[in-house]
Amino acid sequence: MEQPISVTRSNFNDWMVPVFAPANFIPVRGEGSRIWDQENKEYIDFAGGIAVNALGHAHPVAVNALTEQATKLWHVGNGYTNEPVLRLAKQLTENTFADKVFFCNSGAEANEAALKLARKVGLDSGVAGKSGIVAFNNAFHGRTLFTVSAGGQPKYSQDFAPLPNGINHVAFNDLEAAKAAINEQTCAVIVEPIQGEGGVIPADIEFLKGLRALCDEFGALLIFDEVQTGVGRTGSLYAYMNSGVTPDILTTAKALGGGFPVGAMLTTDKFAPHFSVGTHGTTYGGNPLASAVAGAVFEFINTPEVLEGVKHRHQYFLDALNILNAEYQVFDEIRGQGLLIGCVLKAEYAGKAKDITTWAGEEGLLALIAGPNVVRFTPSLIIPEQDIDEGIARLKRALAKLAK
Ligand SMILES: *Cc1c(COP(=O)(O)O)cnc(C)c1O
Repeated sequence: MEQPISVTRSNFNDWMVPVFAPANFIPVRGEGSRIWDQENKEYIDFAGGIAVNALGHAHPVAVNALTEQATKLWHVGNGYTNEPVLRLAKQLTENTFADKVFFCNSGAEANEAALKLARKVGLDSGVAGKSGIVAFNNAFHGRTLFTVSAGGQPKYSQDFAPLPNGINHVAFNDLEAAKAAINEQTCAVIVEPIQGEGGVIPADIEFLKGLRALCDEFGALLIFDEVQTGVGRTGSLYAYMNSGVTPDILTTAKALGGGFPVGAMLTTDKFAPHFSVGTHGTTYGGNPLASAVAGAVFEFINTPEVLEGVKHRHQYFLDALNILNAEYQVFDEIRGQGLLIGCVLKAEYAGKAKDITTWAGEEGLLALIAGPNVVRFTPSLIIPEQDIDEGIARLKRALAKLAK
């Protein structure tokens, strides 16, 4: 066989559109919660591909599902349905509030579908001008023009004006502000149960309950963006299950495929028929390969053992992080649920989150940021305790550099 083309990190700058600034090493192989780079240096993975690799790397359940399906049928297009997608739809509807599912390939597409469905429901209501969307400051919903406009970080949208209009942003966790913004012309409220990219900020349960009541009062759809919080990340299958608040639409992606791109919009029999044949679509969404992997990953995660294990690991992480923090005094607060954990830097270290992840990389640890002041961990849901211990030891060396 011919040798593959030899590539280095500097080739990224040569050939890639520069929207990312990847680390200065290239991972080439992974197993469980460890990966190795081109120099065969080993890293503990506390990043999990940004809350995606729920079973870590190369988990046999996912590998078997993928390779088995790979020899059968990859793609047929949505002129035909397929067995893996129907099985996955059955799993998602049987285990959540939802009755119907629309499949796509990413979180942004799931939210795009959710917002379009809400606009369509608003139109079909016959109430004039029922197209308003209420969203929250600091939110993140993806990078399509509609979803980046719904997101509450103008730095991601302002360069692409004119933006879709009718989207109103108010302060997160401020029910009075939401009350002032939601009215008869509102077709949807979109919210993350925990703002992920925005800094790992949990929504107050009273806030979510209040949004539910306001949506009911004004006939608006409540959309939970669970792209980051879904599929076991918080220790429940979906985070809405922790709050006692049921949305009308839920979006899920990231961990759903365990690393294979897939997304979904879940909704009820009441709203699904507003999308009729031809009103929305996708080429790849629900393709057999993605669906087979997602089905296997979902089945593996949706067990009491795995979900309880996430809660246990949360406490294990927190205990270890608190011990580190007692020594180095760098974090003001450690927050989040399950294995979505944010460490908020003290004011004196403001803006240093990126430096910490760079130093962590040097020490052999993959970690994330969530804004300039929060270090975020979203590891595999089944990361072994010994890998947590080793990762924390490496984090300790990175924090020592900061404290210097
Ligand atoms: C990552 C994320 C998205 C976007 O998902 P993509 O797959 O990158 O399009 C949307 N919403 C939330 C809450 C996310 O964390």
